[in-house]
Amino acid sequence: MTRRISIFGSTGSIGQNTVDLIARDPDAYDVVALTGGANIQLLAEQARSLNASLAVTAYDDRLEDLRSALTGTEIEVAAGAQALCDAADRPADWVMSAIVGAAGLYPGFAALRHGGALALANKESLVTAGPLLLAEAQKHSARILPVDSEHSAVFQALVGEDMDAVERIVITASGGPFRDWPLEAIAKATLAEAVAHPNWDMGQRISIDSASMFNKALELIETREFFRIDPDRIEAVVHPGSIVHALVGFKDGALMAHLGAPDMRHAIGYALHWPERRDLPVSRLDLAAIGTLSFEHPDETRFPALRLAREVMATGGRAGAVFNAAKEAALDAFISGQIGFLDMAAVVEATLESIDTEMSLSIPPQSLDCVAKVDHLARHTARNHAAARSH
Ligand code: NDP
Repeated sequence: MTRRISIFGSTGSIGQNTVDLIARDPDAYDVVALTGGANIQLLAEQARSLNASLAVTAYDDRLEDLRSALTGTEIEVAAGAQALCDAADRPADWVMSAIVGAAGLYPGFAALRHGGALALANKESLVTAGPLLLAEAQKHSARILPVDSEHSAVFQALVGEDMDAVERIVITASGGPFRDWPLEAIAKATLAEAVAHPNWDMGQRISIDSASMFNKALELIETREFFRIDPDRIEAVVHPGSIVHALVGFKDGALMAHLGAPDMRHAIGYALHWPERRDLPVSRLDLAAIGTLSFEHPDETRFPALRLAREVMATGGRAGAVFNAAKEAALDAFISGQIGFLDMAAVVEATLESIDTEMSLSIPPQSLDCVAKVDHLARHTARNHAAARSH
């Protein structure tokens, strides 16, 4: 039986890896919708090769480009934020949520209404609106499957286990390109240096977030939201090899680790075929060739994002939405050259503090509209803090 699938963010790093897996077995899938942003050529190529019913670009002003790139096909085209949600309204059995940033929240949320599986790469959805997203999934008997490699690893280590027996969850961090750099050098890091991840080949934004450890900070919060475990039982450990993705510690002292090559097609493929395991085109580990696995404590002075994540988890409520939006605005400011690398954490911290004086951050958002308002306010506030630090 063919499965109806949609991929949101198909032109990105996760999206392309998802398309790669689907394209290996095209008869098994009926592709409902593919969505992208500025990369119209790639979106059109993917839509043609997978014979998608609909292709959507996030940008209104790129509609004609997309239409002309798909001339001669019967593939429908659409553009804009509303069109993304409309695409998510089309029933699908399996949906990949791989838009980057808070923009991924609405389409992912809309897709849950069909009660299928939502493969969630967009960690921002859980960080900003975790309880709302989980409640929506429950309401429609939909299943959220983690795609972040660490959360997929935890999910796999928990198969057949009882959450009550879990003592702690440990997620690993490669440490990124600045793992060994002194604070003064990190402060002066350039965009090109921040994008060069040692192990993973990822999109620009997540690569910079890995260098600053904001990505790990988001993942700590994502762990808290997805697995509903107390923040003080979640740990991050630096593991430069990126071979062990996560570990689950049980109350009898056992520590179950998930190991694999750093290739996102494993976690994507696991979510695609869940609850089965199927052959995946990922390299197999040669443990003797790897030889040694090393681990170290993260340094929260050089990587303050981790400390901020702990504060956000302790506060709960709207703090995740403020944290994520402030982080996105700070990242924009770094990419545009307005602020330095370490200013990103300073901007996020200042934004959390200023918004906390305006509203109580610990009150949970009651709706997506509320999340959107908090997001808007936090971006605005963060931009002001970034402007104040501008060099
Ligand atoms: P990329 O930047 O490579 O791709 C992002 C995708 O979103 C592209 O399709 C892009 O379109 C689209 N997009 C960008 N802006 C918008 C917008 N405003 N509205 C709608 N679509 C938009 O990101 P990644 O694939 O690296 O990451 C995607 C998500 O997965 C993120 O949440 C990330 O944290 C998460 N993730 C990524 C991992 C990785 O290895 N890359 C690992 C685990 C999680 P276009 O390129 O055409 O402009």
